[in-house]
Amino acid sequence: MEIIRIDVRNETIPEDTITRESLTDRIFTGLTEQVQSFQTNNLQPVINATGVVLHTNLGRARLSGQAIGQITSTAASYSTLEYNITTGKRGSRHDLVEEYLTKLTGAEAAMVVNNNAAAVYFILKALAFEQEVIVSRGELVEIGGSFRISEIMKESQATLVDVGTTNKTHLKDYAEAVTDETALFMKVHKSNFKMIGFTDEVETKELMALSKAHNVPLYEDLGSGTLFDFKKHRIGNEPTVQEQVAAGIDVISFSGDKLLGGPQAGIIVGTKEIVDKLKKHQLARVLRVDKFTLAGLEATLKSYVLEQEQTEIPTVRDIVETQENVFKRAQLFLEQVEQTKSEFYFTIEEDTSKIGGGTMPEVEVHTYVVSVTHETYSSATIAEALRQKNIPIIVRVHNDRVLLDFRTVDTDEIHIIVAAFI
Ligand SMILES: *Cc1c(COP(=O)(O)O)cnc(C)c1O
Repeated sequence: MEIIRIDVRNETIPEDTITRESLTDRIFTGLTEQVQSFQTNNLQPVINATGVVLHTNLGRARLSGQAIGQITSTAASYSTLEYNITTGKRGSRHDLVEEYLTKLTGAEAAMVVNNNAAAVYFILKALAFEQEVIVSRGELVEIGGSFRISEIMKESQATLVDVGTTNKTHLKDYAEAVTDETALFMKVHKSNFKMIGFTDEVETKELMALSKAHNVPLYEDLGSGTLFDFKKHRIGNEPTVQEQVAAGIDVISFSGDKLLGGPQAGIIVGTKEIVDKLKKHQLARVLRVDKFTLAGLEATLKSYVLEQEQTEIPTVRDIVETQENVFKRAQLFLEQVEQTKSEFYFTIEEDTSKIGGGTMPEVEVHTYVVSVTHETYSSATIAEALRQKNIPIIVRVHNDRVLLDFRTVDTDEIHIIVAAFI
């Protein structure tokens, strides 16, 4: 136990406490901790009681049962990843999900890369290398994890031509910036913030006309990108991917693991001409996805094709979940925990949940939370104790109270939370 030797040498263990027994105790405690830490994985499942459906730090989207099944069976055996069963010859992994994506979005062609950040880089590099890309100053955003449009542009060696001002950009700003070197117009969806007040941006439709007039393609980084129309459920104002395709945008990219509710991926849909160019580019191989992503993505997209996304895909289901259903789960928890003579106090309260994942920042959906207090323990102490459980429970802490938001807790997880309070 090198660490104990160092502690003794550095006198961090007080000399008068050093006895044979105390050192033996320390060694055994240390060993037990080491064995225990080996029994749990570094990447471990947790219960998300924060109510934030797309919690980036907790792995964003939970996958559907169908996606999990498809990933598991693909992992356990050989598969048709790049094999055409009909011809017995080599196939392309691009083909596995392309038809689902074109059918669902109305685009001519589609492909998938590692994540949307990779898709942005790839599109700029493949379509605008050493050329100019016109972007509004109001859309030069930073997305969590230090991904900045301006920086990614530099990396891809495309020249950023920023137009307009932070709060207002007009069509003439774009028009005046067009030169022989212009390769792309780029729109970046403001996923993680909202501008209010004296603001103006150019609508996609207007920019479309300019793009056609100059024969310069329009690219939109949609960020979260959704196939499900949350607007119809009066949640937020996200355009669907199919609406943007129908508006005539030449190429669009979005994430697989945000509102879509699938595995991490960067999905690109667009004209056949552009997507073919991307598929042939050297970077397509560098940024390609693995078979598990494709397995999970195919199953996820299938739910959309079969119009089962609202019941099968946890992300969609949890976002549109009614307040009444969340209340039922909160009450189920309360009934069970009250039978245990727990020393904690629990009350059900109305509250709101956030969508998270840098999507729909202004949206708050009505929910129910269980507020937890204790005579002596602070909320921080309770939250920490819950994190230390075998299956860690991650909670919201607000005004010195621990809040359990049952929007993101499944019925079959309730007993685990109950046990944590005994
Ligand atoms: C989230 C986001 C990205 C990055 O997507 P990842 O799939 O996380 O790599 C890029 N652009 C916008 C606008 C986003 O919201």
